[in-house]
Amino acid sequence: MTDKKLFLKDDSCIAIVGGGPAGSFFANFALRLARLKGIKIHVTVFEGRDFTRADHSACNMSVGVLSERLMEKLDWQEIVIPQRCIQSEIQGYQFFTLDDYVSLEHPKAGHKPRIVSVFRGGGPVRSNIKEDVSFDHFLLRLVEERGAEVMKQGVREVVLPKHREGKVTIIFGKGDELEADLVVGAFGVNTPTGDIFTKMHFGYTPPKTLKTCIVDARLGRDFIRENYKNNIYVFAFGTEEIEFASLTPKGDYLTIGLVGKRDISTPELRKFLNHPVVKKVLPQGTEVLKDCCICFPKITVSPASQPYWDRIVVVGDAGISRSYKNGIESAFVASYLAANTVFERGLSKEALQEGYYKPAIKLIARDNFYGKLVFKVFGLISSQRQVLSERLYYAYSRREKWIAERFTSALWNLVTGDSSYKEVFQELFHPRLQFALLPVTLEGLLRQFLGIKKERKL
Ligand SMILES: Cc1cc2nc3c(=O)[nH]c(=O)nc-3n(C[C@H](O)[C@H](O)[C@H](O)COP(=O)(O)OP(=O)(O)OC[C@H]3O[C@@H](n4cnc5c(N)ncnc54)[C@H](O)[C@@H]3O)c2cc1C
Repeated sequence: MTDKKLFLKDDSCIAIVGGGPAGSFFANFALRLARLKGIKIHVTVFEGRDFTRADHSACNMSVGVLSERLMEKLDWQEIVIPQRCIQSEIQGYQFFTLDDYVSLEHPKAGHKPRIVSVFRGGGPVRSNIKEDVSFDHFLLRLVEERGAEVMKQGVREVVLPKHREGKVTIIFGKGDELEADLVVGAFGVNTPTGDIFTKMHFGYTPPKTLKTCIVDARLGRDFIRENYKNNIYVFAFGTEEIEFASLTPKGDYLTIGLVGKRDISTPELRKFLNHPVVKKVLPQGTEVLKDCCICFPKITVSPASQPYWDRIVVVGDAGISRSYKNGIESAFVASYLAANTVFERGLSKEALQEGYYKPAIKLIARDNFYGKLVFKVFGLISSQRQVLSERLYYAYSRREKWIAERFTSALWNLVTGDSSYKEVFQELFHPRLQFALLPVTLEGLLRQFLGIKKERKL
């Protein structure tokens, strides 16, 4: 890069559209890198939501599980989540199929996982939580303390300069303007802001999405502790509608999360709650929907097209993010790549393509391909219930050390997102494991064909 005008320098201004995790992480990195380089920059984060309120418009809807890998990354950035924001400390996972369940613990014996659940907004609707529990609000305040300016205003338009050297204009609030050397799109996929960037005609197209479902059901802290013991329950039924479902303890609430193969709406939710396996662990069934907080947010299932241009970079869900698992961690990674690029290589589209886009595609989007493969094959096996049952029984009850360990580790990494999908794929479909499981797979298929069910408990 030889064009000196497309570099940040003293008094440069970075405008970040969106103060969710991706926006806050970018602000954090930009301020740190500027300090390291000895450049005085202005970072302004525009955020339309008031995360302290307990309603839908104040919440970046998600199940709110923060993985161990993210916690380690937050340590690295000296980001310490205050105790008031932590709703539950997760001990392990219970993995349910149609016939069995398996308790999953961290593959390293004796290791206590650092997984926590948080609220993204001020708590579920009508929760009346007095403390400021919002994780997103905590991050936004933190970057404000670290030097960013936070504008509680929505961005209405972004205008590219006529010449490459000119600045980008941000139009916000009632029509106020700000000139920026760099605009960071961190606006997620649950507002229409993607259209603003599409209409700039530099080639940006938002990611493809699916409608999911999240329910926060108030069951009481004691009931949840007693019944779920700080475990997350995940369900793999191999059904047509649901890719995976989970029950996550969150203080007084149990968060039900459903991600489908297609858009999820109320009938799929009711069907899930009425499922006999779910009723065994959540006997209230559809009763939990009375007086609950329910939303149908979108989740990304593909990367955005062209999430960069001269002086523009789009990060987080609106750019390139991990499908199904750990979206917040991937927002951290993508924001880091993007921030590092603008300081090291500059603000040109060529720099952003090499330093941000290509690595993020390799690290996150290509890995999503393996994620889709894993969920597809797993769904297929789960739909042949006798096959899954035989395989789980063989792996666990016979306690063949190598097989049980590999299976546990792969399932743990799949449900927690602690490894890349490629690594999970390699673990789950390791030739030695598949070869060992071949006889029981054939037995299961035969049983399935003949309609013979074997009763057993893991
Ligand atoms: C069902 C479901 C469950 C999930 N569970 C988890 C989980 O357990 N763990 C996990 O890590 N991830 C989870 N995710 C994914 C996670 O929620 C996202 O990956 C993460 O929120 C992405 O962060 P972001 O900052 O890119 O976008 P967002 O969190 O969507 O933030 C975007 C922000 O931009 C603001 N904004 C938008 N337009 C404008 C504008 N014009 N002006 C100003 N501000 C604007 C919005 O108000 C919002 O605050 C889940 C997602 C879904 C759908």
